[in-house]
Amino acid sequence: MSHTKFIFCEKCRVPIRSKEELVTSSFFFLIATYHDRCFSQEIKGLISAFLSWPINGIQGNLTAIFASIAFIVMLLIPEVPIIIKLGILVPILMRVASWTFFERHLP
Ligand SMILES: [Zn+2]
Repeated sequence: MSHTKFIFCEKCRVPIRSKEELVTSSFFFLIATYHDRCFSQEIKGLISAFLSWPINGIQGNLTAIFASIAFIVMLLIPEVPIIIKLGILVPILMRVASWTFFERHLP
């Protein structure tokens, strides 16, 4: 598979050139891609009610790490309902999907 995949910004439709300017965010269960400057404009608007915090970057990595720890802890507690255990997997899966589908294709 080629690594010259174009990733377009959801706001301005211009291709995103590098990992540094990429911000991924979840929009329900879809992953939306933005330039960092476009994301900061978008997050001020009405659409921000439906956007998550960034999936990638330091914040996203910390979220995934904490979710992984929480998931492992919850696996050890049988009283925790399965829906909670599955719910905590969502940010982990989003982090993996963001890297697999977008981040690894950018320099
Ligand atoms: Zn943009």
